[in-house]
Amino acid sequence: IKHIGILTSGGDAPGMNAAIRAIVIAAHHYKIAVFGFYAGFNGLIDDESVLLSDKAVAHIIHKGGTILKSARCPTMKTSLGIAQATSTLMKEKIDGLIVIGGDGSFTGLLALQKQWSGQVIGIPGTIDNDIDGSDFSIGFSTAINTAIEAIDKIRDTAEAFERIFIVELMGRNSGHITYNVGIACAAEQIISFENFATKNQTASEQEKLLALAKEIKLAQANRHASYIIVLAENLWQGGATALAQQLQTLANIDCTACILGHIQRGGSPVAKDRILATKLGVGAVQAMIAGKSNIMIAEQNNAVAHVALQTAIMHQQGVSNNLVQAQENILALTAQRL
Ligand code: ATP
Repeated sequence: IKHIGILTSGGDAPGMNAAIRAIVIAAHHYKIAVFGFYAGFNGLIDDESVLLSDKAVAHIIHKGGTILKSARCPTMKTSLGIAQATSTLMKEKIDGLIVIGGDGSFTGLLALQKQWSGQVIGIPGTIDNDIDGSDFSIGFSTAINTAIEAIDKIRDTAEAFERIFIVELMGRNSGHITYNVGIACAAEQIISFENFATKNQTASEQEKLLALAKEIKLAQANRHASYIIVLAENLWQGGATALAQQLQTLANIDCTACILGHIQRGGSPVAKDRILATKLGVGAVQAMIAGKSNIMIAEQNNAVAHVALQTAIMHQQGVSNNLVQAQENILALTAQRL
């Protein structure tokens, strides 16, 4: 192997830069040149890349975002896009491609691999943590810390004004961020896919609202000063704003909706993400040298593991039952004390 290509794709995640740095340093150790393609798969399609030097990756480990830029690239979903990407990889004599991104990016990598004979390796880089086969994805730890800090601040104002807040959190179609943040902030309610969508599958939207309103009223009767509901995005139609309006209309409950949004994607990566990214970046280069392809470099029980890309995108590994159960236990114990 002489030339590796790398790119960052999909939603940016804190720690992507740390992964780029680790790949470049490891590759240079093995006398391999690294080409960084810009803006996700767009860089492959438009043949826009930079030869990454040690200097280019110095002092980027603490920076959020990605020095290679990230983007969605709809063209990659077409056969023309795949053909253009393949042509660039051949023209630039790239032997293997490492993509840091989420499940969509891995799907792109799988499509590319069908047309291109080089090695393809994925590194899980998404705040959503919705990648199967890795205990964590790069960016998740920072994102939940950012959300926790924000909600701690919301708690202060909620206490002062004795208010109910509905805080909508990111996660696409997974509840990892919402569940972990909800537990860490001692949210009074976690509304996520694991408990809300599945628990009362037969219940109508109206019945779910009534049950929620009942719990809020009970807390108010017991003089809770503040009440925080964390809500997973894409779970409730219309999100936090709609839910707040519906609670008002249905039960005369006054809630403030707050959508944390992109604040969750930015910021300097926490130690856990920097270390994870470094381990996975070095692991990816070593796997490439060992001739591996079609795999994601993952972390399992603190060790680097190889997982088939196909497995990584299956969406079968949700929030662990232990976590869901822990929250149920806390709620039950709190209810007993009321
Ligand atoms: P995140 O979930 O954190 O935003 P992601 O990698 O899942 O990350 P997506 O927007 O789903 O983000 O995908 C990123 C890019 O991957 C897309 O813009 C596209 O270029 C490529 N991609 C996604 N799905 C496919 C597909 N079916 N075929 C080819 N390329 C794809």
